[in-house]
Amino acid sequence: MSPLFPALADGPREAAALRFGPRTLTYGALAGAAGALAARLQGAGRVAVWAVPELETAVAVTGALLAGVAAVPLNPKSGEKELGHILTDSAPSLVLAPPGAELPAVLAGLPRVDVDASATGPLPGERAADGDPALIVYTSGTTGPPKGAVLPRRALATTLDALADAWQWTGDDVLVHGLPLFHVHGLVLGVLGPLRRGGEVRHLGRFSPEGVARELNDGATMLFGVPTMYHRIAEALSGDAELAGALARARLLVSGSAALPVHDHERIAAATGRRVIERYGMTETLMNTSVRADGEARAGTVGVPLPGVELRLVEEDGTEPTAWDGESVGEIQVRGPNLFTEYLNRPDATAAAFTADGFFRTGDMAVREPDGYVRIVGRKATDLIKSGGYKIGAGEIENALLEHPGVREAAVTGEPDADLGERIVAWIVPADPGSPPGAEELADHVARRLAPHKRPRVVRYLDALPRNDMGKIMKRALADV
Ligand code: ATP
Ligand code: MG
Repeated sequence: MSPLFPALADGPREAAALRFGPRTLTYGALAGAAGALAARLQGAGRVAVWAVPELETAVAVTGALLAGVAAVPLNPKSGEKELGHILTDSAPSLVLAPPGAELPAVLAGLPRVDVDASATGPLPGERAADGDPALIVYTSGTTGPPKGAVLPRRALATTLDALADAWQWTGDDVLVHGLPLFHVHGLVLGVLGPLRRGGEVRHLGRFSPEGVARELNDGATMLFGVPTMYHRIAEALSGDAELAGALARARLLVSGSAALPVHDHERIAAATGRRVIERYGMTETLMNTSVRADGEARAGTVGVPLPGVELRLVEEDGTEPTAWDGESVGEIQVRGPNLFTEYLNRPDATAAAFTADGFFRTGDMAVREPDGYVRIVGRKATDLIKSGGYKIGAGEIENALLEHPGVREAAVTGEPDADLGERIVAWIVPADPGSPPGAEELADHVARRLAPHKRPRVVRYLDALPRNDMGKIMKRALADV
């Protein structure tokens, strides 16, 4: 196949590739370090990567891809039990880690290879085939135990080139990166994306609005973030003219991995004049839709299908494609070269995930606007509440609650109700824990904004919402609170 990283062979060797804090690698140096590692990995089968937000993680994954060896990124924040599950499931032959990184006991049985970011070796030709596994990435575990999605090289190339088309993403772009490196957002989009384009990625190590402002003021052009980051930016913007100016300078602000609350989108737009672009993807499918760089960024929408992605909305009876009327809710199903090949060791789950005609059932529910824009209503499993004969999406109620000044964070779920089938429950983190808004007031607020049948019947107050390492709300944990 054509190489995943043409810039490693053909680009200017002195151009900046990776910057992690004070440490940098040019394309020439990265080709040397990843080439040297690739030589060591020949025939290694499958390798685990201790995916800390360090330069070595980017070198490790690049080296594995050059060698045609599948990489399994490990979340360093995972507990021993989860790591144990991933190791048993994926059976890597060794683990790649930065020199000096402390690995947990559960990894002790695995040969360790320290990644030397200053090594030099010849750049190997990429001989692996399009369908060969490139990465095995575990899903976020938001709705159940994480599953290992086997991603072929074709999927990485396809999704990154589709994003380049949608975002007018080139080698001149410099990305500000504050995400973890063990999921597709931070790893595929955030590291492999700039490397495939021949551009630069600057990793903040730890996300902060100040770090974002500093890099955007210093020539960075794009920011990729999850909604919790944009929330922090929205909070920090009040009274921070420097941050507002820096964001206004960015070519592209992109959000994904979960729904960006409308309230945060609007606050950022008001303070900076810039609208955050949302894209929608999954571990299993990589990217499916995005607002295009030259398109209209509408709050609460994830744009249009990316080039090469076939997308349809399917009604509950499984047959009729849903009309594009902005109201008919269906499950998003997708087909295209961006898809994974299988869940590792889970033929049952793999078979259940695909329709007879090869579409992947995302489990996400959405409507389409007449012009084709996709608006995600929520997940079939946790976000669709059947109450009083209505099907109600949790997302719009959460958005309405977040507009109440007394609400800092909000999550909406359904629970069994003798009369209604399900009743709407609002989980609220108050802005001021000393004087939380009352249940009656919040219910009226929602009823006024949306409709009376969308009012929460029960309001529960929390100090914080349960979130995973990607900042996603773990709704299945709410029931246990
Ligand atoms: P698990 O599959 O293990 O339960 P997960 O689905 O959260 O976890 P990921 O593959 O990381 O694991 O996340 C994909 C999901 O994230 C999508 O199915 C969708 O629900 C959500 N998502 C991603 N981007 C967006 C977005 N822009 N707006 C709304 N939801 C999004
Ligand atoms: Mg999922």
